[in-house]
Amino acid sequence: MSASPLISGSSTRTVNGLSLPQVVAVDGPSASGKGTLSRKLAQALGYTYVDSGAMYRTLAWYCLKQEVPLPAAAGLNATTERPVVNALRRWKAELRKVNGAVWLHVDGYFPEKEIRTDAVERAVPVIAQIGKVRDWMVARQRDCMQFGPLVMEGRDIGTEVFPLAPVKFFLDANPEARAERMQGRGNQAGTERDKLDMTRKKGTLIPALDALRVDNTGQTVEETFAVLMKHVRSRLNMGQPGAPGSSPTPS
Ligand code: C5P
Repeated sequence: MSASPLISGSSTRTVNGLSLPQVVAVDGPSASGKGTLSRKLAQALGYTYVDSGAMYRTLAWYCLKQEVPLPAAAGLNATTERPVVNALRRWKAELRKVNGAVWLHVDGYFPEKEIRTDAVERAVPVIAQIGKVRDWMVARQRDCMQFGPLVMEGRDIGTEVFPLAPVKFFLDANPEARAERMQGRGNQAGTERDKLDMTRKKGTLIPALDALRVDNTGQTVEETFAVLMKHVRSRLNMGQPGAPGSSPTPS
């Protein structure tokens, strides 16, 4: 490995004959700081930012808008899942990059505000349990490689979507700190979502074995960001003079 991965515009690099995706995977439960820190990382590295949760939310929004009958969390089976799977087959969804971030657009529209409603909050962890939904989402998330190196946040990015990502984080904070953050956002449904996300069979919310686990309880964003950047630098071998993120060479 000679050049810094940031110098190449390619979205993979070959190490010991293995083609590795240039992806920083950021997983964790709700209100663990994933969104803020992933966006900051993407900006610092010049990588494209992907919010995989927004993709699941967009499907939940679409199903609600189309009045697709949604299964109850306890009543998932092939029959109750079918209307959602059918919706996936007929919706016209495509990935588009806007201002450095990739969003799923439906019929050319990204429902930025609509995917943050209470109704979507309740529906999303249920549809995210459906195996065929997960397969579709994982494939689209991998398709994001067409936009170059990525910082992708979610629940299963380091375990399922990009198990060979060279940099993986699992962010967390204690329940009190997360509850306080959720309250600040007027969002109380996160804890319920986490329970469903941690107990489902596929794409379970668990840290990848090779993820750096960071508990950011009581830390400022800047403090956690410094911890993450230090790890990124060491994993991506960015200490070389002239490489983005390295110190200027003394003259
Ligand atoms: O990240 P966000 O909180 O917006 O995600 C909303 C929901 O989408 C999660 O609670 C989870 O049910 C689902 N999700 C998922 N896998 C991901 C990202 C999100 O199942 N990679």
